[in-house]
Amino acid sequence: MAWFCSGSTNRELVENLYREGLIKSERVKNAMLMVDRAHYAPSNPYSDSPQPIGYGATISAPHMHGHACEYLLEYLRPGARVLDIGSGSGYLTHVLARLITDPSAENPAADADGHVIGIDHIQELNDIAIRNMRKSDDGRKFLESGKVQFITADGRKGWPQGGPYDVIHVGAAAAELHETLVQQLKAPGRMFIPVENAAEEGGSGSMLSRLGLSGGQHIWVVDKRADGSVHKEKVLPVQYVPLTDAPKR
Ligand code: SAH
Repeated sequence: MAWFCSGSTNRELVENLYREGLIKSERVKNAMLMVDRAHYAPSNPYSDSPQPIGYGATISAPHMHGHACEYLLEYLRPGARVLDIGSGSGYLTHVLARLITDPSAENPAADADGHVIGIDHIQELNDIAIRNMRKSDDGRKFLESGKVQFITADGRKGWPQGGPYDVIHVGAAAAELHETLVQQLKAPGRMFIPVENAAEEGGSGSMLSRLGLSGGQHIWVVDKRADGSVHKEKVLPVQYVPLTDAPKR
């Protein structure tokens, strides 16, 4: 989708996404301008398409990162706690850290509370994400201050130690809307999660699901309101790699 949104520099890519309405807010635009995709995508960093990063993973397309930030934006405030599940290259983890940081702060890591925890189940990808992030000054500061951490674990279980979270972003398709993740949301808080359609519509015992035929995926936005009630909305058809068991060693 939207290859004409690509660019020859990070600025050109982000400006094109903004002009085409794929990024709508100045805050998201500025955060994406501050994080150079070339530090994270080994090939075609400024193309509006997913790119392989090794270990069967991809860095998602820039317009999907833009959509995720837009949906989560009102919860991304200084002091917010954020969980990025399936953090892969670490690109979005870095952008999310920018979004919970006051842009005028001299030292981006010196802000009050708040952190972003990236979870991936492949240790090598976390090593790559840390290497990628260390390519920029602010990335190094985020890591050194602990404002950004990468954890190797099964993201389907979340990471309760770092919560409850204002924001949970899931970067790979879930078989179901994992209840344990909803439990780790703050009230109020919001989760952005791609979910396989067959699972949501028929449950894991459905005919489609038993035949291994997935009916595609949708992004679900799950809001936990201040009174603790949970509201789920299916917002966007998408195509993500699945959340899986960790590869056998
Ligand atoms: N947000 C990332 C997307 C990476 S692709 C980016 O744009 O760079 C999806 C990632 O999910 C992969 O890195 C894969 O290793 C990870 N993943 C898949 N199943 C997982 C699981 N059960 N727990 C944690 N990470 C998982």
